[in-house]
Amino acid sequence: MGAMVWFRRDLRVRDNPALREALAEGRRVVPTFCLDDRLLRGRHASGPRTQFLLESLAELDAALRERGGRLFMRWGRPERELVSLAREAGCERVHFAYDVSPFARRRGELVARALERAGVEPVAHEGVNAVDVRAIETKEGRPYAVFSPFHRNWLGVERRPLLRAPRAVPVPDGLDPGRLPELGDLGLRHEVAEPAPGGERAARARLDAFLGDDVADYADNHDALGADRTSRLSPYLHLGCVSPRQIEERLGPGAGPQAFRRQLCWRDFHHHVLFHNPGNARSEYQRRYRGMRWSRSGWAFDAWAEGRTGYPLVDAGMRQLRREGWMHNRARMVVGSFLTKHLGIDWRRGERHFMRLLLDGDEANNNGNWQWIASVGTDPAPYHRRIYNPKLQMERFDPDGRYVRRYVPELASVPDEHLREPWLMPPEVQAEASCVIGRDYPEPIVDHREAREEAIARYREAAGR
Ligand SMILES: Cc1cc2nc3c(=O)[nH]c(=O)nc-3n(C[C@H](O)[C@H](O)[C@H](O)COP(=O)(O)OP(=O)(O)OC[C@H]3O[C@@H](n4cnc5c(N)ncnc54)[C@H](O)[C@@H]3O)c2cc1C
Repeated sequence: MGAMVWFRRDLRVRDNPALREALAEGRRVVPTFCLDDRLLRGRHASGPRTQFLLESLAELDAALRERGGRLFMRWGRPERELVSLAREAGCERVHFAYDVSPFARRRGELVARALERAGVEPVAHEGVNAVDVRAIETKEGRPYAVFSPFHRNWLGVERRPLLRAPRAVPVPDGLDPGRLPELGDLGLRHEVAEPAPGGERAARARLDAFLGDDVADYADNHDALGADRTSRLSPYLHLGCVSPRQIEERLGPGAGPQAFRRQLCWRDFHHHVLFHNPGNARSEYQRRYRGMRWSRSGWAFDAWAEGRTGYPLVDAGMRQLRREGWMHNRARMVVGSFLTKHLGIDWRRGERHFMRLLLDGDEANNNGNWQWIASVGTDPAPYHRRIYNPKLQMERFDPDGRYVRRYVPELASVPDEHLREPWLMPPEVQAEASCVIGRDYPEPIVDHREAREEAIARYREAAGR
């Protein structure tokens, strides 16, 4: 008899409450991961993120082997696969980390019911967030919809203790270990040329590098696009190759570390919001914007997705996404504002495109941020405050054009004074910079001022209904 650990997005041996509790039962454990076609092929299917997942699973398996165990792989419906493996291994309990998305919760409930019918006890633990985001509430006992008061409360919540990696992970003999497939076996393509590597080791290396160097100046530098000084820990946090508690524990006092910790709180905030508002996964949190008039334009969406809008900062962001499966937060805000406000295209189309390519694609964070930038979600501000002017954003956050030139090579030789609005370059300068507008780089697909006015009219109309 023993216990099973059902890994989902807590792919690490360090600071893993589910693994620790299973081992605390004192017998053999069955560390298991179940690939699920609904996630691999469903509306959030992603080649790049699945590759990152497979690399993280390979490393988890290696870390368990170093401790005498291994990872048992299954492929199918977890409510069937886990029950059958638990029966075969004689498990009395299945330990796992709670998760907040509507799909994860439904799946967790189905699994829990199937286990209970088979006489196996399901046990949910923390592990994905810094605090238990299900439990945090206002003084009136209600969920939060505004970030700042959530943050104040969150800072004061007592943290669970950090857990060390286990020394040994004894597993039963004679069970079929299953097989870790390759991306192609799953019918997925990689699509991204320069992705970060998955796994717990890469996560630790990233964290060490960030804490050793960039965190001290994070408060000043996190928006600087050219410097690229944020942690890039988001894919590792998404799949739990590192836990927010492991990160928090290593943050000292000071403006940089505390500004960084605040970003971890944004993550918990969006998880909290989705937990309490599962309907957000499909529709606007703010009722008045449901049924808003959105453009159905195919060509404008394609120009946005391929980084051909003629606005250098927007195009740089979208091309970074295609190249790395990741985009700087400031650029995500600019491209999100551009799609929903300048092009008037439904935020759900942007959300889906991001989910396809982002290594860190995370339903709670992605949905929450898309709703935020489209001005239809929680933490509201007047919609005109979140219509970003790409030229001014570049002036502030990429003043020397380093970011734009890195991702839009056709603009590499455009002089600084024309980089923000290359369509205003005189013809002889275009020729000299080998960047003829309309041939080497597109004309802007919309006019900023007109697009802004139309966006305001659209939002005003929706809000006035
Ligand atoms: C339109 C849009 C879509 C987004 N989609 C996602 C997504 O799918 N997955 C995702 O993890 N983040 C998403 N973000 C939030 C943010 O852009 C990324 O978390 C951040 O850029 C990741 O880079 P980093 O790890 O270097 O961040 P850092 O600046 O180093 O921050 C550290 C960590 O804090 C968390 N964090 C930071 N900012 C936010 C935020 N605004 N919301 C929630 N968590 C945050 C992340 O876990 C991040 O890894 C989105 C933002 C926008 C505007």
